[in-house]
Amino acid sequence: MVTAEEPSRRGGTPPEVDRAAASRRAVAARRARAAVKHDIAVRARRAIDVVEAAWDGDPATPEATMRVRELLLSLPNVGPTKADRIMADLGIAAAKKVGGLGVRQREKLRGWLTDRERPRRAGGNREHSRLVVLAGPTAVGKGTVSQFIRAHYPEVLLSISATTRPPRPGEVDGQHYYFVSDADFDRMIADHEFLEWATVHNAYRYGTPRPPIDRALAAGRSVLLEIDLQGARSVRAAMPEALLVFLLPPSWDELVRRLVGRGTEDPAEQARRLETAKVELQAQDEFDVKVVNNEVGRAAREVVELLEVP
Ligand code: 5GP
Repeated sequence: MVTAEEPSRRGGTPPEVDRAAASRRAVAARRARAAVKHDIAVRARRAIDVVEAAWDGDPATPEATMRVRELLLSLPNVGPTKADRIMADLGIAAAKKVGGLGVRQREKLRGWLTDRERPRRAGGNREHSRLVVLAGPTAVGKGTVSQFIRAHYPEVLLSISATTRPPRPGEVDGQHYYFVSDADFDRMIADHEFLEWATVHNAYRYGTPRPPIDRALAAGRSVLLEIDLQGARSVRAAMPEALLVFLLPPSWDELVRRLVGRGTEDPAEQARRLETAKVELQAQDEFDVKVVNNEVGRAAREVVELLEVP
């Protein structure tokens, strides 16, 4: 197959030398495109700026040689099915590269990207919501980010879950959790008091009480739920208007460091949770938005910005 990275034949150069150089160039080009996609995924660059750069000049830049589908997939809330639908709507063939789009296709893609950057408030809006669910792999720092939001953004109601787990030192009933017995939890399930509930880490049950959330939403307040993955899926089913946010670690090594460093689990439990985290990370594309937890204050601000705060 002839690719954009393949060199033109120079008279007298042995073919194997050419091939080795071409393959090195291909690897470098792939890495450069991966870096652009990563920047879009973590919101360091806007997709609209990437396509404008692609159309600005050199057709060999990573921006121009990236396939449109790859660009769409790097957007925080676009998975394969959605990407294919968008491409079909825009009339762009699957293999098209950003730099290879015709004038009309460029106009359409530019319009679509500009439109999705624009904040909207009315129904059907996927970029902002009064109800935001914060989930992510174990040890990514969901608790720290939500506690930061509790301390610095009092206008946001942070839902307080009920749990059958005993309190850890320093945890206060009614503030960090409602610590309840198994029998109480059973009664709350029977009385339909939970928006969702789940058994987490095969150990204790956790549930989100629904009445405070309904009251806050009715009063026009914004609500944040910090729950596990199963809980996020249940909320999506029960309240499709909720915006699902996935908190990502800066890297896998950093996640391991955080889990081992906090020292609240023994080595066997740490190993079990790391296995869980690997599976949990695979769920990130189900989420509307991904936020990287590089620094707690910044991650918290990004989450709050996704909430419609009146
Ligand atoms: P921890 O015991 O460390 O406070 O929390 C363990 C896990 O339970 C965390 O992943 C947390 O997000 C999750 N969790 C806390 N409250 C809820 C809840 O109400 N529902 C669900 N599904 N998960 C919860």
